[in-house]
Amino acid sequence: MTIGAIQKIYTHPQVATSAIALEDFFVLLSHVTSKPKVFLLAHPEHDLTSEEEVALKDLIERRKNHEPVAYLIGHKEFYGRDFRVTPATLIPRPETEVLIEEVLGHLKTFSSPAAVFDIGTGSGAIILTLAEEMSLQKDFLYIGTDISPNALMVAKENQKLLNNTSVVFQESDLLKNIILPQEKNICIIANLPYVPTKMYEETEPDVQNFEPRIALESGHDGLDHYRRLITEIQEKKLTNFSLFLEIDPSQTNTLSELLSVFSPMVTTVIQDLAGRERFIKFSSS
Ligand code: GLN
Repeated sequence: MTIGAIQKIYTHPQVATSAIALEDFFVLLSHVTSKPKVFLLAHPEHDLTSEEEVALKDLIERRKNHEPVAYLIGHKEFYGRDFRVTPATLIPRPETEVLIEEVLGHLKTFSSPAAVFDIGTGSGAIILTLAEEMSLQKDFLYIGTDISPNALMVAKENQKLLNNTSVVFQESDLLKNIILPQEKNICIIANLPYVPTKMYEETEPDVQNFEPRIALESGHDGLDHYRRLITEIQEKKLTNFSLFLEIDPSQTNTLSELLSVFSPMVTTVIQDLAGRERFIKFSSS
């Protein structure tokens, strides 16, 4: 069959139940044929081989069943780089790119040595992006941690794909196995699970049926993990540190209160691209 004929069957706007988004169709088609999207878009008359057709129809069926495109093709673009993702890891979200911008701006102000921690690293997208973006500028330590050995395997695979050698990955439940070097500036970034249980139960099937619950849900107000993290930072008696958290907009006030134990440090709330309060920056200035 030609691309045009298959496209008509599966993306026609009037046959909603058997249709997938046009954008998804071309991503899957490009994956199956190993041809660039621009070629495929320009050649509706191009004939697929029967193997390609079978593989494409299988992926389309899975997509109709809400399986995320990133899992179907095994990778997702984040901050201009491609990251491998599996169902052991959350799929990097475009809003988290704003977090990268903020952290980069902050790290560039450091004049003394720093250790940068990404707690709950998943696919490694955050820490690898930071290390790669900073690589020519500063010689910092970069550490990515996760409680899930399977997620860490994916993170290490991504490190290889990027030829990165500066990030160290370590298995840990939050800060449990982590030694924080007191003599350095410490920057902790955490995109931990923050979805309240009730909200999690209402997420779309794409998320709920396929992404790892342990990377998303965190108790009745979504703050179980951040509460523990803040307690652990206190226990480690950290003095010279900054903290960046990705959050749900409903958590701003509670988190600011929780962080007030470190007074007089300053909390700044940062919005995502949709204008929602999505990040907290916490630092001494
Ligand atoms: N932003 C993600 C979502 O809405 C949640 C990510 C997280 O819990 N760390 O699905």
